[in-house]
Amino acid sequence: MTHSASDNMLRAQVAACTLLLNNLKIMGYSGHVSARLPGRDAYLIQGFDQPRSGLRPEHLLICDYDGKMLSGPPGQRPPAEVFLHGEVLRARPDINSVAHFHHDITNVFTLVDGIDLLPLKNHAIRWVSGIPVHDDPSHVASSELGRAVADTLGSHHAMQIRAHGQIVTAESVPACLVDAVHFVENGEAMYHAAAIGKVRPLSDKDISAFQRDFKRVPHIKKLWKYYTEGGKSSGLLPEDWELGGE
Ligand SMILES: [Zn+2]
Repeated sequence: MTHSASDNMLRAQVAACTLLLNNLKIMGYSGHVSARLPGRDAYLIQGFDQPRSGLRPEHLLICDYDGKMLSGPPGQRPPAEVFLHGEVLRARPDINSVAHFHHDITNVFTLVDGIDLLPLKNHAIRWVSGIPVHDDPSHVASSELGRAVADTLGSHHAMQIRAHGQIVTAESVPACLVDAVHFVENGEAMYHAAAIGKVRPLSDKDISAFQRDFKRVPHIKKLWKYYTEGGKSSGLLPEDWELGGE
């Protein structure tokens, strides 16, 4: 099958984002990154048993919002939690990429009573509207469970599934990588801070000042370049992948 140049870049971005998240130990042996195909009610996502450590653009499937595979390599099938991506992308036309992973330290906050994950670090202002926790720890393996997750997410930009993992949403694949990195940085920072003393979340004044000065588009461009160029020079990412920027 042939793909347009923009589809090829989106495929390379999903594969690169997955390999980078895997290399950063944010995404392990399971989890996935999806990207909405422009102008279509469909998205790219990896297959059920495709190793995250060896994903290539040509391995990706195209699925619809119901989780049905529209095209993909012979013998492949969608991941069990494809419904999480389909229902979140259906419910949220403002976002184009979803990352789902199972990062243990960040998820610790769903395992204890009385300590909620809060925005502590400056880049965590992305989540000042809230970081909802979905109470049902099940695999999101049906449309019904996917809709329940999308309801919990609401208009927020990230959430946790109790005793399970995380969902980060963004306007593009590069933005989803950067948000996933910052989400986990913030979770790890709070984990360490809570271990040594009373946690001090960002104040309203801190948040306003940072929001005023922060430029999301160049920040995403800078970090996407940092991670993808680093990935190419280390051999993690092939040199000839066209990865663009934001
Ligand atoms: Zn999961």
